[in-house]
Amino acid sequence: MAWDFATEPEFQEKLDWIADFVEREVTPLDLAFPHHYVYDKTHPVHEQVLKPLQKQVQDQGLWACHLGPDLGGLGFGQLKLALINEILGRSNWAPMTFGCQAPDTGNAEILAHYGTDAQKERYLQPLLDGKIVSCFSMTEPQGGSDPQVFQCRAEKDGDEWVINGEKWFSSNLRYAAFAIVMAVTDPDVSIYKGASMFLVPTETPGIEVIRHVGLPGEPLGEGAHAYVRYNNVRVPDDHVLGGPGQAFVIAQTRLGGGRIHHAMRTVGMCQRALDMLCERALSRYTQGSSLASKGAIQEYVADSWIELHQFRLQVLHAAWVIDQVGGHKARKEIAAVKVATAKVMKDIVFRAMHVHGSLGVSNEMPLAGMWMTAPIMGIADGPTEVHKVTVARQVLKSYSPAPGLFPTAHLPERVAAARAQFADLLQHDHANSIF
Ligand SMILES: Cc1cc2nc3c(=O)[nH]c(=O)nc-3n(C[C@H](O)[C@H](O)[C@H](O)COP(=O)(O)OP(=O)(O)OC[C@H]3O[C@@H](n4cnc5c(N)ncnc54)[C@H](O)[C@@H]3O)c2cc1C
Repeated sequence: MAWDFATEPEFQEKLDWIADFVEREVTPLDLAFPHHYVYDKTHPVHEQVLKPLQKQVQDQGLWACHLGPDLGGLGFGQLKLALINEILGRSNWAPMTFGCQAPDTGNAEILAHYGTDAQKERYLQPLLDGKIVSCFSMTEPQGGSDPQVFQCRAEKDGDEWVINGEKWFSSNLRYAAFAIVMAVTDPDVSIYKGASMFLVPTETPGIEVIRHVGLPGEPLGEGAHAYVRYNNVRVPDDHVLGGPGQAFVIAQTRLGGGRIHHAMRTVGMCQRALDMLCERALSRYTQGSSLASKGAIQEYVADSWIELHQFRLQVLHAAWVIDQVGGHKARKEIAAVKVATAKVMKDIVFRAMHVHGSLGVSNEMPLAGMWMTAPIMGIADGPTEVHKVTVARQVLKSYSPAPGLFPTAHLPERVAAARAQFADLLQHDHANSIF
């Protein structure tokens, strides 16, 4: 019997250290330095403050633990990573402090899986060492959910590839040392077989940022998500990742991990929102009693706790499934977690904001910022609707159509069969009921 919800004492000690460290040393960075500095390696806070913190994480053997030892990290597996990420989700700076921030985690994962030795040495090692950040450039302005509309092309010219086309929402391109760019290399076959991934150093001539798209609250044109045009961008043949035509096989490896890691951190964010909700409910009095004593607010607390508890167990279970069978066989679990992430975040943060009244929607609480994360979680790495399709398809795989005209649960046939099975006893009952 292997079902067990307990954490090993040795690992719990590590979690306790992480929780204390993040609270004491890392969350002050959230308050002093805006989110976008997290990826800006030129900002002095990286050298002067972050580096010593990262050293402490390394000394604890907790650095870059999203990758297993075979892939160059100190990995614990997804289940332990889920427990760690739950704590890291409470701070914007924590993932960078622990060397496991998106999108670098996913990029490191595919480099580790598909990179040549030379690619690993040039791109993976500095990424794992926390010296550089990276970008993943796949979505195009005309569509992200449906890759069949992608137009960005790469054509072979001697021993180089020449990339032309536009990409949209290429996060952190402005801070990145390199981008992994998806481009069509064989337009005569389905994009799922005719696209390739290229490692493109960001100093390569021809990379034109049309706009730095931002998220709500950020000044227009100053965000971290590049709308970028690749104009005759040349990379050598050895900068194809995993070989021509492999883009979607690689993307699947990458996106699965990214989705579950976002979900793990969202557990932490939701817990933070619930903490705020409960504290406010106990602190605020109206009409002679605390908010916590009102039935409506108790319902908020109960619903939030129940939803968060269900979500946390769902995330941990999905992480466990990945550890058991690999991410490629956990598509249903990962897609289901991705769907739940945005919904749970939306519901809990909304209630927490509401309980805080005007303060909750003001810029003096972190809640309004967290609120925007909910729709972002529902879109980044693929929209909810598309992930529901994946869940539904996977669920339906274990069913077949009814063999006859009526469903297999149709009562007349089932009752007739059961009656035939117990005919002797039923006859006896029937005989008794006559007298
Ligand atoms: C914060 C953030 C960071 C991102 N970072 C990156 C990055 O680093 N690199 C990168 O390449 N991309 C990135 N993206 C882009 C992201 O992957 C896309 O936004 C996503 O794939 C959806 O594509 P789209 O925005 O073009 O929406 P569309 O594809 O136009 O979809 C719009 C809406 O249509 C509906 N819809 C779509 N398909 C279906 C369907 N089959 N059935 C029913 N309804 C459907 C959904 O409601 C969906 O939200 C990022 C996005 C965000 C928000």
